[in-house]
Amino acid sequence: MNEDIKKKILQKIESYKTIIVSRHIRPDGDAIGSTKGLVKLLRDTYPDKKVYLVNEDYSDYLAFLGGEDTVTDEVYNGALQIVLDTGTEDRISNRNFKKAKEIIKIDHHIDDKPYGDISWVEDFRSSACEMVADFYLTFKNKLKMSPEAATYIYLGMVTDSGRFRYEGVTGDTMRIAGAILDCGVNTEKLFANLYVDEFETLKLKSYVYDNIKITPNGVAYIYMSEAVQKKFNLTLEAASDVVSELSAIRGSLIWLAFIDNKAKGQIRVRLRSRFLGVKDLANKYHGGGHSMAAGATVYSEEEMQSLINDADKLLGEYKATHGGWL
Ligand code: AMP
Repeated sequence: MNEDIKKKILQKIESYKTIIVSRHIRPDGDAIGSTKGLVKLLRDTYPDKKVYLVNEDYSDYLAFLGGEDTVTDEVYNGALQIVLDTGTEDRISNRNFKKAKEIIKIDHHIDDKPYGDISWVEDFRSSACEMVADFYLTFKNKLKMSPEAATYIYLGMVTDSGRFRYEGVTGDTMRIAGAILDCGVNTEKLFANLYVDEFETLKLKSYVYDNIKITPNGVAYIYMSEAVQKKFNLTLEAASDVVSELSAIRGSLIWLAFIDNKAKGQIRVRLRSRFLGVKDLANKYHGGGHSMAAGATVYSEEEMQSLINDADKLLGEYKATHGGWL
């Protein structure tokens, strides 16, 4: 029973003097929001404990959320490590996490490769932040949720659910979001930060729109070469974000972004879809993920073309057997 796991997690938190919190590499709003939210909540509730946020990478577009901690190896002695929003060990943005005495996993991805001494995984949740919020609401009489912590958590709920649009959003998601909103989230500031773009970003979007290709059955895709990444001065992460620009084309239920990474001799693939799943397709090309948001890697332009052909076939089959798609 997950109620028991939550109780166990609270007991562990209460029994440790030092707690280290980490998330996944290439963090998104949920990874950053859930970790920063939990850290703030623990610091406010237990001022005598040492609570650290320790990660090895960050995301520029979320820099407005502020910085993190660095700790020496000794800090891990007898410490509790909590890892949020991270399905597999290899994606944890803290290579030292195993130095802690015990590890707790809190996550909403499919639990393909479990880890941790205590694992609370609910893959029906729309975000890890929803789980942190649920944890707070379960023990509301013991835990303190400041407006700052609530803002981090609300941000993760908003971003990971596509502004409450995705399939995983339930009535519970909205009830929980409502309770967190009532803790004092500054939504005007939050959404301004999420929506304001640099002028250069608009120019990049314009390039992307000009260069999207569509297969016969409607798979939309874009290839971000190294030259283009250089031209727009993009990090790999920023180049990867262009996948979201492909999401709203009528008739296109699968969209793909290919991001060239010559240094590693590979091309990163981001797969997105609506109505039909792309996880199996991602699995075939050295990847995985959620049903409608997955990632993969291809190692040549031929393999990239093969993935595009497979996606086109998949979509063709879907359209031939289903009606009502946009
Ligand atoms: P991304 O496109 O990186 O946002 O990934 C979408 C989803 O797929 C996330 O839930 C990732 O955890 C997962 N994912 C991305 N790349 C991989 C991979 N190479 N192997 C397994 N899962 C992945």
